[in-house]
Amino acid sequence: MPELPEVEYTARQLRSSVVGTTIRDALVFWERTIGHPELATFLLKVADRRIEAIRRRGKYLVLDLEGDLFLSIHRRMTGNLFLLPAGWEIDTSLRETDPVAWSTRGPSFLATSAVDLVEGSSYSVDLAKTWYCRVCFNLADGRRLLYTDPRKFGRIELWPRDCEAVAFKGVGPEPLSTAFNAKQLTQALAGRKSAIKQVLLAQEAVAGLGNIYADEALYLASIHPLRRADSLSPTEIELLYQGIVSVLTLGIEHGGTSFSGYRDLWGEAGDNYDHMKVYQQDGKRCLRCGALIERIVLAQRGTHFCPGCQKLTVE
Ligand SMILES: [Zn+2]
Repeated sequence: MPELPEVEYTARQLRSSVVGTTIRDALVFWERTIGHPELATFLLKVADRRIEAIRRRGKYLVLDLEGDLFLSIHRRMTGNLFLLPAGWEIDTSLRETDPVAWSTRGPSFLATSAVDLVEGSSYSVDLAKTWYCRVCFNLADGRRLLYTDPRKFGRIELWPRDCEAVAFKGVGPEPLSTAFNAKQLTQALAGRKSAIKQVLLAQEAVAGLGNIYADEALYLASIHPLRRADSLSPTEIELLYQGIVSVLTLGIEHGGTSFSGYRDLWGEAGDNYDHMKVYQQDGKRCLRCGALIERIVLAQRGTHFCPGCQKLTVE
């Protein structure tokens, strides 16, 4: 599932690629991907809009459009964005010939002979068979921005610029902004009786962390994921703050974590998975103390920690 680093990495790629380009129109192949407004209004309002800026808010990718609108894209489990060069055709014939298969797979993509592939991109006709495209934004210059999502949990919404508070309800402070610090984290954790990992996943105390980076940040701070959030000492909160900033910054530098379906704008995998200290490392030895990394289930999420240096009870 894409977390802050994966979304930020995609945002940076998009910023250097599509700002200033106009969305000619959108093709929606799976209606429920559009969360707001209803489909007909979405299609009408998104057409012929210039992309003015690209931002990120927590795990949301944000495209600011002319006319004081913005698109928010939340990829949930398996959503990805691909930018296709001009020259790819969309084949929607499956919609008529096999509606059941269509609802799973969506359209297929065919490269014409004139396709000039972006250097270093991983697009290929074979790969296109597994894209599961749900929405296609046709850009005025012939390129296509695809939203692909095999599991269909992701959502795309279009909002007026002054509705950000509604669109990003419950999304806490940005961990990589200069406004975020240990003091702010202390206030956010005060009175929270849930396990610290659950509080981190809930987005309100701090935005952008999911299962991978929460496990890694808690490991760096030597804090057991089941510790009560309001039981952390000032020193532990300072270490957690530093851990969060560190794992997210490194995640972005490594182009994101691609153990499952995440790919960048050009279809490339990020290599942050090679740098995991605890996430999915159960059975391996801790790099700090040599104990065996363990896996438990917390709120239905696999949770990884070192029993040697992340103690549940503090002496
Ligand atoms: Zn350890």
